[in-house]
Amino acid sequence: ANQITGTVATCVVVLIMQADVDARRALEGEVRRAIARGEFELHYQPQVDLKGAMTGVEALLRWRHPTKGMVPPNAFIPLAEETGLIIPIGEWVLRTAAAQLQAWSRLPETQHLTIAVNVSATQFRQPDFVEQVRAIVTLSGARPQALKLELTESVLADDMGVVQTKMKALKDFGICWSLDDFGTGYSSLSSLKNLPFEQVKIDQSFVRELLTDPRNGAIVETIMRLSVSLGLAVIAEGVETEAQRAALEAAGCQCFQGYLYGRPVPVCELLAQRSAAA
Ligand code: C2E
Ligand code: MG
Ligand code: MG
Ligand code: MG
Repeated sequence: ANQITGTVATCVVVLIMQADVDARRALEGEVRRAIARGEFELHYQPQVDLKGAMTGVEALLRWRHPTKGMVPPNAFIPLAEETGLIIPIGEWVLRTAAAQLQAWSRLPETQHLTIAVNVSATQFRQPDFVEQVRAIVTLSGARPQALKLELTESVLADDMGVVQTKMKALKDFGICWSLDDFGTGYSSLSSLKNLPFEQVKIDQSFVRELLTDPRNGAIVETIMRLSVSLGLAVIAEGVETEAQRAALEAAGCQCFQGYLYGRPVPVCELLAQRSAAA
C-alpha cells in the first residue's frame, strides 16, 4: 500500500511540474508574440522636486494583453528574467524611452525632463549591455544626460570590478545611475561607495509605514544621512500622502515619486494632467 501511495504521489508531483512547464511555455510564447504585435506599452510616473514641479518620470512597463487586459510587470518580468526574454523586452523599453526623450527634447516645456528606466540584473549582465545602450541612445538622438538607469541591489552581489567598469562606461557616456528599492536587498556599503551611483531610491516599503512605525523613520533618516555623506541624491518612492511627503522632507529628502503626484499613465495623459495642474 505504501508503495502505491508513493507511486501516486510521484505521479502527482510529475503532473504538477508538467503543468508548470506547460504554463511557462505558453507564457513564453505569448511574450514573444506580444513583442512582435506591439502589445507592450510604457507608462510614465512623475518625479517631482520640493516645489512639486515635475523633473522627470519613471518608465513602467505595461502589457496590453488582447484578452487579459492590462498585465502588470510583476506578472511577467520574473519569468522573462528566467527565460532570457527580458533581453528583447528590455531592449524595446530602452528604444521606446529614448525615442520619447528625443520627442520631448523638441518642445521647450518638456525638454528638461528625464526618464528613468528599470534595468534588470540579467539585462545588465549581458556582455554587450554597454554597447547596446550607447547604440540605442545615439541612434535615437536623445541626450544621454536625460536618461537614468535604475539598478536593484541584486547586481551589487556580482563581481565588483565588472559592475564598476560597465557603470563607469555608461556614466562617462552621460547616463545617470539610480539604485532602486534601496534598503530591501543586498547592499554592502562599500559597493555604494565604489560604484558611480548618483541617486538612491528609498524603497516604498519604508515610506508606506513611515508615520505608523517609528523604526521606518529611523531607517529613512539613516539612508538620508548616509546618502548625504556619500554625495548621493535621494528620491522617495511610493509617496501617497502629504504627511508622508512632509516627514520625508523633514528628514532631508528633496525628490518624490508616488500616487500623491500621479500614477503611471500613458504619455498623452501625463502631459494633459500636468498642463491641467499648472
Ligand atoms: P519599481 O521600479 O520599484 O517601480 C515602482 C512600483 O511602485 C511601480 O509598480 C509603480 O507603479 C508603483 N508605485 C508608484 N507609486 C506608488 C504609490 O504611491 N503607491 C503604491 N502602492 N505603488 C506605487 P509597477 O509599475 O507595477 O512595477 C513593478 C516593478 O516591475 C517595478 O518596481 C520594477 O521592478 C519592475 N518593472 C517595471 N517596468 C520595468 C521595465 O521596463 N523593466 C524591468 N526590468 N522591470 C520593470
Ligand atoms: Mg524602478
Ligand atoms: Mg522601486
Ligand atoms: Mg520594486
